[in-house]
Amino acid sequence: MSELGGINCFCGNLARVRTSWTKENPGRRFLSCANRDGGCRFFEWEDSPLCARSRVIIPGLLRRLNALEKENARLEKIACSLYFLLIRWSLLLCCIFCLGRRGWYCISGLELVGVGM
Ligand SMILES: [Zn+2]
Repeated sequence: MSELGGINCFCGNLARVRTSWTKENPGRRFLSCANRDGGCRFFEWEDSPLCARSRVIIPGLLRRLNALEKENARLEKIACSLYFLLIRWSLLLCCIFCLGRRGWYCISGLELVGVGM
């Protein structure tokens, strides 16, 4: 174990700590060359091998996390749409209120245009 770094790769540079997300080693950290393009082939595991149960549980948790993040992004889009819809309806209600007080107004886009004043 290297205690997260402090080991040089074959290039002589400080090796970089990365995390494996393969099926066999999900979440297991390793050291490799910091220069991905044209670097050396230095490789060393940082963490001990995962037990069989961890190899099953971690990918399942990652799938659930990805599904929740996807659902969250979808709900954020809906919330944003509802927010703008609320603003438009608020403007419309404001126009209707003004219509009763000052005469006719029509809506052109989001601008209010006085008619027949
Ligand atoms: Zn290297």
